[in-house]
Amino acid sequence: KITLCWFRRDLRTDDNTALFYALQQEPEVLPLFIFDKNILDLLEDKSDARVQFILQKVGELKSFFEQKGGSMLIKYGKPEEVYSELLGEYDIQAVYTNRDYEPYAKKRDGGIEALLKEKNIPFLTFKDQVIFEPGEILNGSGEFYKVFTPFSKNWLDKFKQTKTQPLSEPNWKNLAKSSPLPEISLSEMGFLPSPIEIPSAIADQDIIRHYDENRNFPAKKGTTRLGIHLRFGTISVRKLALIASQLNETYLNELIWREFYMMILAYNPQVVEKAFKPAYDHIPWRNNEQEFKAWCEGKTGFPIVDAGMRELNATGFMHNRVRMVVASFLTKHLLIDWRWGEAYFAKKLLDFELASNNGGWQWAAGTGTDAQPYFRVFNPDSQTEKFDKDLKYIKKWIPELGTNSYPKPIVDHKFARTRAIDTYKKALEQ
Ligand code: FAD
Repeated sequence: KITLCWFRRDLRTDDNTALFYALQQEPEVLPLFIFDKNILDLLEDKSDARVQFILQKVGELKSFFEQKGGSMLIKYGKPEEVYSELLGEYDIQAVYTNRDYEPYAKKRDGGIEALLKEKNIPFLTFKDQVIFEPGEILNGSGEFYKVFTPFSKNWLDKFKQTKTQPLSEPNWKNLAKSSPLPEISLSEMGFLPSPIEIPSAIADQDIIRHYDENRNFPAKKGTTRLGIHLRFGTISVRKLALIASQLNETYLNELIWREFYMMILAYNPQVVEKAFKPAYDHIPWRNNEQEFKAWCEGKTGFPIVDAGMRELNATGFMHNRVRMVVASFLTKHLLIDWRWGEAYFAKKLLDFELASNNGGWQWAAGTGTDAQPYFRVFNPDSQTEKFDKDLKYIKKWIPELGTNSYPKPIVDHKFARTRAIDTYKKALEQ
């Protein structure tokens, strides 16, 4: 008899809620990770750095459990099929796992829960990837918040009252004794290694302490680059939020944005395809493919936009300030559907998070929760003036700046600004 502890986006052993409770409550715990074919099949880039990252982290977990006398089951396939096989192989007592709020994950978990229920096997789920999950922070009428500020206020009040604490050391004695179980390789899953480097999972206290002063300047090391670690749970959000609450509230506020967008997505799964504000679905996007290509490749002739896209293509990261600029440029200057930009980011960003990416894109396009009027169009030059005055960031990514080989602007700023405002205005009058 064994109990499975199913890891998904919580690839760590410290302060992992499902793991902690499984080891506290069950005698024979066998950790499990499934490389989900449903997700991997959608990845076009076969050297996607995220797959390599997950494989590496799962490998580290497995070695860790082996040092403690256990091991880890690593499977590749569609989760329902993998579970059907596991039910044949093992006498499963229960399955412990941390909750995931994305539409696909909820559907997948619903399917697994139903499958287990046929055999009377409990499927126990825990809160782990957030401080407050969708539904915990509601307004006075018990409804979800549609704007950020009151949500964040309520979140902070509750955070202060709750006194969140990380969990203590798990009871490793309850790991199921096992000889090392088989591993899996990238090539067996049809993937190749990636040259992209992943930043470390260390919460740099200096960066956090000075976050509010430095976070807007892409040439500075002013943000923590923990996005990928929050995405895959290689850092505990509870530990990070505690550090942030002691060092810098602006940083904590960013973690609240993350939970705000997760809540918005959970309550409004339609935002994956549609504008949060339905009237904005009437915008007649120009969707010029050549312009989109120039944007993707960092060849628009707008240095700050091009620097950002080149940074993204080369490293899988883009600074938040620049994400806002390139997203505004695509949707407003070029009038290209925000969903095109969103999909491109989803392919490239190491820290891709459906909820935050969708929220960020809808914010930039003016279609989202933000009350910001649509006629506010970012001016790439004034953004450069404010946030990269000495062109340090831009020159890093565009060494040919100022030479003939750098492209001419693909659109005139003033013309594009007026066109965007007129187009939005007309669409909203319908
Ligand atoms: P830091 O500035 O150090 O912040 C720490 C953490 O707080 C981040 O890692 C992230 O988890 C969270 N956070 C910070 N800002 C935001 C925000 N505005 N919204 C939600 N969470 C935030 N963030 C993602 O995690 N995944 C995405 O796919 C994503 N797509 C975006 C798309 C657009 C168009 C825009 C404008 C923003 C997007 N963001 C996304 C938000 C933000 O840009 C990144 O979280 C941030 O740049 C990641 O860098 P960092 O880890 O150094 O962040």
